[in-house]
Amino acid sequence: MGRQSGLEDYERKRNPDKTPEPSGKNGRKGGDDRPIFVIQEHDASTLHYDFRLEVEGVLKSWAVPKGPSTDPSEKRLAMPTEDHPYDYKDFEGVIPEGEYGAGTVIVWDTGPYENVTEQDGEPVAMTDAIDRGHVHIVLHGEKLQGGYALRRIGKGKDERWLLIKTRDEGADARRKPVNTEPESVKTGRTLDQVAEEEGGER
Ligand code: MN
Repeated sequence: MGRQSGLEDYERKRNPDKTPEPSGKNGRKGGDDRPIFVIQEHDASTLHYDFRLEVEGVLKSWAVPKGPSTDPSEKRLAMPTEDHPYDYKDFEGVIPEGEYGAGTVIVWDTGPYENVTEQDGEPVAMTDAIDRGHVHIVLHGEKLQGGYALRRIGKGKDERWLLIKTRDEGADARRKPVNTEPESVKTGRTLDQVAEEEGGER
């Protein structure tokens, strides 16, 4: 793996059968206990979509230059980026010039997701699925619904992933929501409106 996180260290050092410490396998507690995904459109030096999955209290993250597709024949490049804190799921605003990731961010889509990854007919936990580079999830977003696969296609310095829509009822080769549904699902605003209202420069 090209990435490490504090939570991965935590898990590697502990046997959940032998310690009463929380394993985090069920995600955060309270409310809807399904984990969430969020896709943030980010107009930084280059426009991209940050695809994030809640895994054990943090948001595992990939930058998707072209954004997600609803067409199963489209393979979208997804570059791994650093884990983000869970609270990042609500962030919408302007990162000032000179700061890392400077530019405007909107919450393009969000909702619960299910991990449906299997190997040899057995369910695979999200951390293992990410370690193995083969993740299958079902999104319950406002714009995106149904299955998506995330597959790692390079290792080490060349680590990169593909984000691919599964062939199911959520698939639609004609929809192109990245182009036709640009508004924030949180506030209804576009990137331009957020940039204007929050004083950022574009
Ligand atoms: Mn970004």
